[in-house]
Amino acid sequence: MEDDDLMVPIRYNDGSFENPFPRFDFPGGGKMCRYFRDRFSSNAPTPTRDEYDRNLPVIKPQLSKLQNPPEGKLQYMWIGHATVLYQFDGWNVLSDPIWGERCSPISFIGPKRYRPPPLTIDELPDIDAVVISHNHYDHLCISSVTALNSRFGDQLQWFVPEGLGSWMSARGCRRVTELSWWESASPDDLRGMKRDKLDIVCTPAQHWSLRSGFDRNKSLWSSWIFKTEKHSVWFSGDTGYCPAFKVIGKKYGPFDLSAIAIGAYCPRYMMAAQHINPEEAFQIHKDLQSKLSIGIHWGTFPMGSLEPYMEPKEIIERLQQEDGGQFPFITVSHGAIHTQD
Ligand code: ZN
Ligand code: ZN
Repeated sequence: MEDDDLMVPIRYNDGSFENPFPRFDFPGGGKMCRYFRDRFSSNAPTPTRDEYDRNLPVIKPQLSKLQNPPEGKLQYMWIGHATVLYQFDGWNVLSDPIWGERCSPISFIGPKRYRPPPLTIDELPDIDAVVISHNHYDHLCISSVTALNSRFGDQLQWFVPEGLGSWMSARGCRRVTELSWWESASPDDLRGMKRDKLDIVCTPAQHWSLRSGFDRNKSLWSSWIFKTEKHSVWFSGDTGYCPAFKVIGKKYGPFDLSAIAIGAYCPRYMMAAQHINPEEAFQIHKDLQSKLSIGIHWGTFPMGSLEPYMEPKEIIERLQQEDGGQFPFITVSHGAIHTQD
């Protein structure tokens, strides 16, 4: 698809959305049966706690560094799954916050995290804006929304894709901005810090939404850009590979940092339409002209996908080595604080 104007979500009369991309083909019943058969017959042993600690160490961040980020730089920390803290030019932004034990509608059933968050919500620095990519349970965690609201109250500004605003308001979020693809808005400078303007742009993703079982695709899904004059960041949310990324790169690239999903991609017959694999993540890193990318959406929750849990990191390392380019794609540890010019 060459025409940028076609990259808007399809809207149906019943209020639901659909991807406009020609490759999107959601798996039907036959593939679902095959998937459950493959999942049932996969017999990978569950790693021990020691093995997880060795492979995926969770680092306790130095809180003073988060309270006083270096001036003129971009500081970031992977908290886990798609939750990342981005600090630049006086702004503190959080993506898809999940602190919950499980990503599920029921507190005691569903995927249970195998890596704890490196800090609590109370230990976060002052957050200005939170972006939500879509309403799946591993990206929109009700207990985290509630805890963030009780900690930050009116100071917190939420940016969500079209159709998700009423859900957020009903959960006590008072400043909610709903955007569709290519729309942008700026959080108010509520902390009175006289900062450069921050633009938050809602950008496409190839995915879907479902929360209650009866609301399939009734709210939109997206990726996000946050940028000032000095720094720009892109956050993938959940997505399959689609032509939108080259367009995002052309319109808004290059990016100083991109947080790109690299996990939950196997088997491909089931996942390809909705989740990129590490090879596609690497292609997006190129499409965006990203100066630095970090892998997210892996190493935190068992997502029901069949790839070995360390494989995303191994593939990214191999691709980076083969590419040898000057713009790295890396994985980082939970809680490790990184800075970038
Ligand atoms: Zn999702
Ligand atoms: Zn996800």
